[in-house]
Amino acid sequence: MFKKILVANRGEIALRIQRACHELGVKAVMVYSEADRDAKYIKLAEEAVCIGPAPSPLSYLNMPAIISAAEVTDAEAIHPGYGFLSENADFAERVEKSGFQFIGPTPESIRTMGDKVSAKQAMIKAGVPCVPGSEGELPEDPVQIRRIAKSVGYPVIIKAAGGGGGRGMRVVHTEAALINAVQMTKAEAGAAFGNPAVYMEKFLQNPRHIEIQVLADKHRNAVYLGERDCSMQRRHQKVIEEAPAPGIARKLIEKIGERCVAACKKIGYRGAGTFEFLYENGEFYFIEMNTRVQVEHPVTEWITGVDIVRTQIMVAAGEKLPFTQRQIQIRGHAIECRINAEDPYKFIPSPGRITTWHAPGGPGVRVDSHVYTNYYVPPNYDSMIGKIIVHGDTRDQALARMRTALSETVIEGINTNVPLHRELMVDANFVTGGTNIHYLEEWLSQRK
Ligand code: ADP
Repeated sequence: MFKKILVANRGEIALRIQRACHELGVKAVMVYSEADRDAKYIKLAEEAVCIGPAPSPLSYLNMPAIISAAEVTDAEAIHPGYGFLSENADFAERVEKSGFQFIGPTPESIRTMGDKVSAKQAMIKAGVPCVPGSEGELPEDPVQIRRIAKSVGYPVIIKAAGGGGGRGMRVVHTEAALINAVQMTKAEAGAAFGNPAVYMEKFLQNPRHIEIQVLADKHRNAVYLGERDCSMQRRHQKVIEEAPAPGIARKLIEKIGERCVAACKKIGYRGAGTFEFLYENGEFYFIEMNTRVQVEHPVTEWITGVDIVRTQIMVAAGEKLPFTQRQIQIRGHAIECRINAEDPYKFIPSPGRITTWHAPGGPGVRVDSHVYTNYYVPPNYDSMIGKIIVHGDTRDQALARMRTALSETVIEGINTNVPLHRELMVDANFVTGGTNIHYLEEWLSQRK
């Protein structure tokens, strides 16, 4: 096992990784920007290194600063968390070339999965079902583009190969709008992701977002840890996640989970990863793979009893997975609400000083957050300030626990989306379960 790990991230995930390190008896070196020197995990750190000013390109995206922080502190491995450099293949390569272990998959896996066209090609080869569409990047010739769209069938969605974070996508309903939409998406993708390549998929009308969590070691062992339902989204960003997915037969999950495990073995995947699917009419369609730990990993931890972050560290150190697929049993139901510093209905970010922070507790309640009373939420980063996760024997019990947890939560000084979560936890359709990816946006537009 490593003696010392550098945590190359901020916010709640930095604290989550620090906790996992301490539990394993590993020292954690924390890094921070000038805007984050008061975060809880910095106060708790045995070692912390300032890596630059507030803007992330100068700190959390600053590869030389992060690698030198690992050098001066004699860390052996770097955990990238999520976001920032976590899916940057060049960073993973530089980390390993500098003699550190990158806690994640190989740079080659990150590169293949980071380009959605090559990711889909790898999945098709590995027998994972994908959304029907263009086989690879769209050609230049408008005649060929129209032919592809016709065979896929309208509506179609044009997506950037290098896209992420819900950006670089355009839905097309008619042939008349097709060529212009392709050109606009290409131009935007070139500017935003430095890669103008786009591809085409059938636009599924009412799918759910279902994803499969996997863990793999360096000895070609891999398991899947069930699924998560992340259909409650706004602007393609997840707001509430739960596990298991309501109303989907276990047989179907097992079938797709086994496909994901086979794909991991085929591509030599290692570490934690997530296969994202759209699910419609009993069928799964792969859309992308995330090669890192995800925000919503706690719901899976709770229904499986597996500590995903701890296992990431163990497999990076070369250990074998400490369990087999047969030992993974699903127990009960878990729900996560992402707590954001923002107006609950207008979604305007609300950074500033938290004057009261009172987190909920009790049986089956977990709060992952780096903030506290008197903490200043900096305006420079993502608005998520924590997560409330609950577990119950049944979905109904989990819902009841989340309602109680939200009613106990007091956050003053800034706006948060807690009021929105309180409303959603009593919404008849959400309570029934199985809402699709458009549900939350439709609900918000009717509420106005
Ligand atoms: P990103 O990497 O930006 O998150 P994804 O490919 O994961 O992009 O897609 C994000 C979201 O966009 C999905 O969860 C879904 O809501 C929507 N989406 C993507 N592809 C399709 C499709 N073919 N049909 C319908 N909706 C889609």
